[in-house]
Amino acid sequence: MKTIIFSLVFLLFTLLSFGQTERSAENNLPFKMEELTSPDFIKAVEKSGGTCIIPLGIMEKHGAHLPLGTDMIDVREITFRAAKQEYVIIFPPFYFGQIYEAKHQPGTMAYSPELVWNILEETCDELNRNGITKIILVNGHGGNNSLLPYFCQSRLAKHKGYAVYLFQSEESGEFREKVRQLRKTTTGGHADEEETSMMLAHRPDLVHLDRAAEQSGEDLNRIDLPYTYTGIWWYAKYPNHYAGDGSYASEELGNLILDHDAGQLVKMIRSVKADKTVMELQNEFYQKSAKPLKTEQ
Ligand SMILES: [Zn+2]
Repeated sequence: MKTIIFSLVFLLFTLLSFGQTERSAENNLPFKMEELTSPDFIKAVEKSGGTCIIPLGIMEKHGAHLPLGTDMIDVREITFRAAKQEYVIIFPPFYFGQIYEAKHQPGTMAYSPELVWNILEETCDELNRNGITKIILVNGHGGNNSLLPYFCQSRLAKHKGYAVYLFQSEESGEFREKVRQLRKTTTGGHADEEETSMMLAHRPDLVHLDRAAEQSGEDLNRIDLPYTYTGIWWYAKYPNHYAGDGSYASEELGNLILDHDAGQLVKMIRSVKADKTVMELQNEFYQKSAKPLKTEQ
């Protein structure tokens, strides 16, 4: 009798603990794509509503004090903070983008325009082949600011089974004021006080604050042409590929910026997951654009 009771209790315990493992495996589904198993990837696609973020970084000089992958490391941190609040799949490290203006600096990976385009396009296409229908681009690199809206618009050139959404954070006057109160410098733009603070907030081991004043991040302003854009504009201003002064960075400022962006990204992920309109309109557009003469006037 004792043996039977013991066996029953053992069986019950085994069933309960098995159930628990199953549930916790469900709840602890990793959001980093590279950490998912193949069967769990199916669950992740379902849990995310077919939504995947590609955080876009780059390999480029960041003054003498921040790592080459700063943009990639920081933008991934923002997406991690957001994914902890709203589940979404996050694509592995991605460092292909527009960075020709820093080709003269050591460590810059400036791939050809064709490769930059194709790898982004094929990554989106491959995600779609794997069940992803909503792709969120979160950009961490200023040099991509013209490329990415153009990439989004080009999704209308040919039929695609997915929609691309580009994250665009907004800074309220209140937020800018909080930043202004914490900041000690007034100029910047690259590897500056804000960017150095972000890295300090989550990867202080990669920041060499003592080297931040080794080079000049001053604006040389060597071209002065009215109403004109040229590709050399950034180099004309900042030949050291450094704009501002990172030596005044603080962890507090870094967390303020990272959490601000992550908070807006959470709201975006939620609305993108619920969105049906973009894909519906995109499909309607594909149909009509194939036969423009049939479009009602
Ligand atoms: Zn940067």
